[in-house]
Amino acid sequence: MSYMTEERKLIQQTAREFAMKEVLPLANRLDPEQGDIPMELREKMARMGYFGILIPQEYGGLGLGAFEYVLVTEELARAWMSVASIIARGNGIWGDLSEEQKRKYYPPMARGELLGAFSLSEPEAGSDLASISCRAVRDGDEWVINGSKTWVTFADGADFIQLFARTQPAPDERRRYLGISQFLIFKPRGSLPPGVKGSPIRKIGYFGWKTWELHFENCRVPASALVGEEGRGFYAMMSGLELARVHTAARAIGLARGALEDAIEYAKQRVQFKRPIAEFQWIRFKLAEMATEIEAARQLTYFVANEMDSKRRCDKEASMAKWFASEMAERVTSAALQIHGGYGYTKEFAVERYWRDARLTRIFEGTSEIQLRIISNRLLGSIE
Ligand SMILES: Cc1cc2nc3c(=O)[nH]c(=O)nc-3n(C[C@H](O)[C@H](O)[C@H](O)COP(=O)(O)OP(=O)(O)OC[C@H]3O[C@@H](n4cnc5c(N)ncnc54)[C@H](O)[C@@H]3O)c2cc1C
Repeated sequence: MSYMTEERKLIQQTAREFAMKEVLPLANRLDPEQGDIPMELREKMARMGYFGILIPQEYGGLGLGAFEYVLVTEELARAWMSVASIIARGNGIWGDLSEEQKRKYYPPMARGELLGAFSLSEPEAGSDLASISCRAVRDGDEWVINGSKTWVTFADGADFIQLFARTQPAPDERRRYLGISQFLIFKPRGSLPPGVKGSPIRKIGYFGWKTWELHFENCRVPASALVGEEGRGFYAMMSGLELARVHTAARAIGLARGALEDAIEYAKQRVQFKRPIAEFQWIRFKLAEMATEIEAARQLTYFVANEMDSKRRCDKEASMAKWFASEMAERVTSAALQIHGGYGYTKEFAVERYWRDARLTRIFEGTSEIQLRIISNRLLGSIE
């Protein structure tokens, strides 16, 4: 089945040109020095509509679906994964928003003027998100937040932090996913909210923005900061993560494709034993395997995006795409680095960036093991 309509081909082609012209040169320059994604690039992305792909037209977005989101994501990630990631910081807010909230937040999000950071993970709650312990307590017209969060990418650069905190104790250990609520904490760009202290984590890749450890100490937010139904934030988290997993699959595919394209170029021009290394059978077959693996991941991801757009349940399939694409990306980017020989192990070639960033796709938005847990639970029934 071909999903590629003329309109989709055009979206893909436009994103490809944008990524290669506007993003790749910046990535090659800024990633090695751990520089941030420049504001001018964010503004250009906003003009392309990339922060509003999924936002309905009535709220100022492009009103497209997960499929188009995936197409644009692959192209941006082919140049720089962080840039493919930042589009997820517009493109809507997880959970059920009221009409009033949509009218207020979606138009500036679609314009790239209101971008968020996600704060789910905690030092003691990573894969097991139902066990989060950061607390929000109601005090008159405000909520008071206390606790520690970690891995908050873009906490400084965002206009708001989408925070998950416990507002009620869990009824019992088995149902500890109940009692978690979602808050939007607004703040000026470039700073942390009052009552929040933190520091950037010294990570090994995913440069272009910083990832923070945060401590909330009596951070006060208005009652209106609560979005969705109180105590049911875990459901918003799970459905949000479903889209995030397809988005991650597309990011992994983009990285692998960047590595493949670079490896082909390199193999054609690098001469050893008096011939281009592209003439050696191991290299040829390896490139053939890489291309095939990428296509398999892409078709699975297209299928899942299409299911999502058709409003069919696809949590298992989203996990399959995320697991398959991210495992594939690590193998493919590593093989591409190998084809570059020693030069691949330097900052002179982009392949090391693809490799470092691909490694992360197996960890965030639910580790590979958590994806296998979701898939196997659906196949065999849950054992917990
Ligand atoms: C660079 C970076 C950016 C990030 N950005 C964000 C962000 O913006 N917002 C946010 O909220 N989070 C973010 N994260 C957090 C990320 O989602 C978590 O790291 C991830 O969910 C894993 O949690 P953990 O690190 O606590 O690992 P753990 O949950 O402690 O897992 C450790 C190991 O145990 C395995 N494991 C755990 N449970 C099981 C199980 N039941 N069965 C089998 N194996 C299991 C895991 O697969 C893993 O191999 C980011 C992480 C990184 C590294």
